[in-house]
Amino acid sequence: MMNFIVIWKPIIEILILWSVIYHIMLFFEGTRAIQVLRGIIILLLAFFLFQRLGLQVLDWLLTKLLGISVIAILIIFHPEIRQGLARLGRRHILFTAPLREEELDLMLKQISEATENLSQNKTGALIAIEKNVPLAGYIDSGVFIDARLSSDLIENIFTPNSMLHDGGLIIQHGRIIAAGCIFPLTENHDLSRIYGTRHRAALGLSEETDAVIIVVSEERRDISLVYRGKLYRDLAREDMFSKVKEIIKLKKDDA
Ligand code: ATP
Ligand code: MG
Repeated sequence: MMNFIVIWKPIIEILILWSVIYHIMLFFEGTRAIQVLRGIIILLLAFFLFQRLGLQVLDWLLTKLLGISVIAILIIFHPEIRQGLARLGRRHILFTAPLREEELDLMLKQISEATENLSQNKTGALIAIEKNVPLAGYIDSGVFIDARLSSDLIENIFTPNSMLHDGGLIIQHGRIIAAGCIFPLTENHDLSRIYGTRHRAALGLSEETDAVIIVVSEERRDISLVYRGKLYRDLAREDMFSKVKEIIKLKKDDA
């Protein structure tokens, strides 16, 4: 019996460690934290190597660097960490079920109806659908709503003079989570002058996250789809929503 434990202990330990690292990586998959996480793992490996080789100066330097980087990570990634913990608390976390096909279709139908009406009324709109990268920081910049998604509510929010018509609306797990949110403006200088801040905010957000963004122009009435730094202008209604659906259903963001 003792022998059995002695042999299996390191194997079990390695398996548990491996599974923990795997889940942490999975948790941050698709967020900007993933590169940093890879960097840290490389640093740790180098650290152990230096220690083994007895390279004291490098070992000392890395020890200091690791200490500082823990604090830096806490500061830089505080929105991600906070949302991650909040999701853990709510428990549907690592296992958040993706929307079912019917739910997704219903959501897209409501959004499509709303954007169509908004464009007909020459009302501008900016709608971001969260994918893998948490939009926590942007949600905080607006007003928290967490309401069932409906075309009426979307249209109402963007009606001029309504309190929340300025800024972007965020959809998370098929619900309207916040409105009046501020997105980062793109720094792309090649962009046509016809695009003002609304379109630049959509592009900016799409450069920083994998959100799927729909913009209705109040000047030209066109409806554009923005994803990963690209703006698809004036797609036919059916094309636009099959493309949105396709992007949302992709697990990875290489559309
Ligand atoms: P449109 O074609 O509808 O005129 P546009 O691209 O020309 O759009 P503007 O006319 O500058 O853009 O649109 C201004 C509106 O864009 C603001 O009233 C506000 O609602 C929204 N907006 C501007 N900056 C941001 C931002 N950083 N984040 C979210 N929304 C923003
Ligand atoms: Mg404008």
